[in-house]
Amino acid sequence: MSDHILETADLTKTFGELIANDGISLGIERGEVHGIIGPNGSGKSTFFNTVTGFYESDGGQVFFEGTDITEMGPDEIARNGLGRTFQIASPFTDLTVRENLLSVYTDGLRSGLRISSEKRARAQEILEQLEIEHIADHEASDISGGQQQLLELGRILMLDPSCIMLDEPTAGVNPALQERILDHLRELNEEGRTFVIIEHDMSVISGLTDRVSVLNQGQIVTQGDFETVTSDDRVREAYLGEETDP
Ligand code: ADP
Ligand code: MG
Repeated sequence: MSDHILETADLTKTFGELIANDGISLGIERGEVHGIIGPNGSGKSTFFNTVTGFYESDGGQVFFEGTDITEMGPDEIARNGLGRTFQIASPFTDLTVRENLLSVYTDGLRSGLRISSEKRARAQEILEQLEIEHIADHEASDISGGQQQLLELGRILMLDPSCIMLDEPTAGVNPALQERILDHLRELNEEGRTFVIIEHDMSVISGLTDRVSVLNQGQIVTQGDFETVTSDDRVREAYLGEETDP
């Protein structure tokens, strides 16, 4: 068997007539940072949603750590160690940053819920690692978009995932904070975590990823390292909108 931490086989997702994911077979190697690029509407977010159990697939299979997770729901998949963030970060805005970390998979902080000391310690560790301890007591509605992205990442880390899927983690983030987010991702990758990352910003993709897959109209059109992929005519045509020579 290959050392794919995550693997999809002919994964398909349709919305009525629309084939949003058209038989995607993708193997993610353990420890790599894998970029997913492609034009708007090519099916990137749908792929994440289907892989992580937020959408039911219409065909194909998903394997994580060798286990068939195709039929699992999002919570079970997350507990199995496959984490993901959303294109739009959505913390509990009436809770503080720390409370957001503590509330992962407890439906917010319901009164009377006991939070273990292990969980508190883990939250503290994450606040320090992501350098957001100074805003730990700020309400999530009061922090910047970039800080919300870090919080989103922190919430995922509470579950100690071995693989994390990030949907445009630096969209709308100012350049200084963007650089910090990338540094944190590199550090988490060095700790051994695998990443699959959807990103529009090609400088992020080139600086962060080991391999890239290009989606167009729900299919993977090519795959390889950033340099190879971006010099591929099909990619320039589909993604960069450039005319290519006949
Ligand atoms: P990307 O993330 O690459 O921009 P998406 O995966 O969001 O693309 O969307 C792929 C296609 O599927 C688009 O045509 C989009 O309109 C459609 N789509 C995505 N989610 C839904 C949904 N929940 N219901 C209906 N159509 C959807
Ligand atoms: Mg998207």
